[in-house]
Amino acid sequence: MRFGRERIARKEGDSAPVSLGEFELIDRFFRNRGARRADVALGVGDDAAVIDVPRGKRLVAATDTIVEGVHFPRAAPPRSIGHRALAVNLSDLAAMGARPAWATLALTLPAAEESWLREFANGLDELARAHEVALIGGDTTSGPLTVTVTLLGIAHSRGFLARSGAAPGDHIFVSGTVGDAAAGLAVLEARLKQGSAADREQLQRRFLFPEPRVELGERLLGIASAAIDVSDGLAADTGKLVRASNCGARIDAGALPLSAAIVACAGAQAARDWALGGGDDYELCFTVPAGRLAQLTGSVPVKRWPYTAIGLVTDGPGVVILDGAAILNVERAGFDHFVR
Ligand code: ADP
Ligand code: MG
Repeated sequence: MRFGRERIARKEGDSAPVSLGEFELIDRFFRNRGARRADVALGVGDDAAVIDVPRGKRLVAATDTIVEGVHFPRAAPPRSIGHRALAVNLSDLAAMGARPAWATLALTLPAAEESWLREFANGLDELARAHEVALIGGDTTSGPLTVTVTLLGIAHSRGFLARSGAAPGDHIFVSGTVGDAAAGLAVLEARLKQGSAADREQLQRRFLFPEPRVELGERLLGIASAAIDVSDGLAADTGKLVRASNCGARIDAGALPLSAAIVACAGAQAARDWALGGGDDYELCFTVPAGRLAQLTGSVPVKRWPYTAIGLVTDGPGVVILDGAAILNVERAGFDHFVR
């Protein structure tokens, strides 16, 4: 830990003048969080965590940071921030077809506010338990709100999914529906005000509490030729996948899976733009060779794990988005931190 002062003062305006010591903070909110796993020899509380790694298996590691004002708005509920910090990493492991197991949490906080910490920790805890992930350690510092989770998992003995395995002629699929999270963020920020309260609520939920497609990722092993999770926008992320595979892609805008809620709130046109350019969906985009399509539909029933065919891998380069016979411009689609 590295605090300027010994303790993180509670936020000004809080009723009780109590400050929470760092030790107490970790003990109360971050000890015994997530799933209890027999393979954790030593968890939170020592200088480092110790885990038993299954013999002959490969570890898979991912780290993702979320920053207030960049990845979530200032007004986001703390439960959602805890959920998303883990969800973005679970989604990365899902895209590898790996089984998540252990997480560390590096938390930078402007102030140690108990109710905020409780909600944050509960959001992370709930999702961690659902995926059998144990919180094994971390670091706590003061500063602008920033949350980094490192997630370790185990690669399946059948291998892993990479971005680089797609070949021309492969079919491109995306799971679930896309665009909802970006529309949900617009609802949160009062940029999208149309639609019923229930539909707007559903869109917001997709942004605040994304459900990473971990099971689907594992199911796709041996079937998909390549996969990526959709964090920066479908067009941008498909672009990354096909670039890694030295190919291109043709996406049919008319085939994009849109939720009834997004169409009702935003209209078909805006919904499609959000589906292509909006981020934060945490769905999986994957490619399947024509020869394995029957295996896909047989082993991964679409009723249980919804996915939709949206286009084809081409010789490339680049991603072309077709709207009937017209080509859509997606120059500005997708999120890049350093390009504005
Ligand atoms: P050190 O200064 O030796 O690194 P710390 O005081 O930072 O020790 O951490 C003490 C213990 O608490 C360690 O096991 C560490 O992994 C854990 N820890 C610290 N912050 C967090 C957190 N935000 N979430 C989970 N575990 C944490
Ligand atoms: Mg430390």
